Amino acid sequence: MTMRLLLIAGLLWTCAAHAVTPLKVTQFAPGLYVHRGQDDVATRANKGDIANIGFIVGRDCVAVIDTGGTAEEGRELRAAIRAVTPRPVCYVINTHMHPDHIFGNVAFAADHPQFVGSATLGEAEASHAQSYLRGLRRELGALADGSEIVPPTLTVDGTKTLDLGHRKLVLRTWKTAHTNNDLTVYDEETGTLWLADLLFVKCIPVIDGSLTGWLADIATIRQMNPRRVVPGHGPIDTPWRGALDAEEGYLMRLARDVRGSIRRGETMQHAVETIGLAERGKWRLFDIYQRRNVTAAYAELEWEG
Ligand SMILES: [Zn+2]
Repeated sequence: MTMRLLLIAGLLWTCAAHAVTPLKVTQFAPGLYVHRGQDDVATRANKGDIANIGFIVGRDCVAVIDTGGTAEEGRELRAAIRAVTPRPVCYVINTHMHPDHIFGNVAFAADHPQFVGSATLGEAEASHAQSYLRGLRRELGALADGSEIVPPTLTVDGTKTLDLGHRKLVLRTWKTAHTNNDLTVYDEETGTLWLADLLFVKCIPVIDGSLTGWLADIATIRQMNPRRVVPGHGPIDTPWRGALDAEEGYLMRLARDVRGSIRRGETMQHAVETIGLAERGKWRLFDIYQRRNVTAAYAELEWEG
């Protein structure tokens, strides 16, 4: 055999050997499935599987909600859907721009769904594309292969209802909070509000949008009073009201402390080094995100009147 043929044979063997293992999912509510991501940043060990993602099955078709941190995780999610239902995937909904929620989109391209996101998602993805792809390659190496950004083909500004066949999903965009392109999904049939990263449970909330916007959104979420909630990170079996209170408490204390620091004329550096240390034992990934949160809050609150 020539070298070339050997190479082709090798490639074929690799493809055949690569059976996709379905992602582990839990039926969180009737016809609504959640995969619980690991409470971590993306590493080679966890393969970028760090967000809670999943899907909802209607009579006619399936809506995917977030697709995971790599093309491979997207394929595994697709395999998990196929293990549950043969119905086609008609919507792939992205709750926001972050890499751990979007890089699996490409695994659904051949299904020709509508890719759905906030009206501000496309631009946010485009402006972060280079740094997200570079970061993914840096953290995951070859595990990042094939991952790419697939922008929305259907956008939401305010609310939009999708019908999966006797199953309506009400999509809603929010004030800038976790990011400037947060979107939630309300499944009317089960009273489940898929909050994604507007709710972090036991993992420190990450501010990549607006602290004050997030606090306003939390008040609205509480008023909506859903039966069930799916958080973007952390355990999915924690009662949501207590989890939302904890998140709000963290954000309120952060706002109070940063405003105090600004009032006293302290530098951002000083604020970053001193604020929130009492929260340390309460939150997973505190050491990774706390300084960044203080920086974001300081930059935002410095300019308020
Ligand atoms: Zn996020």
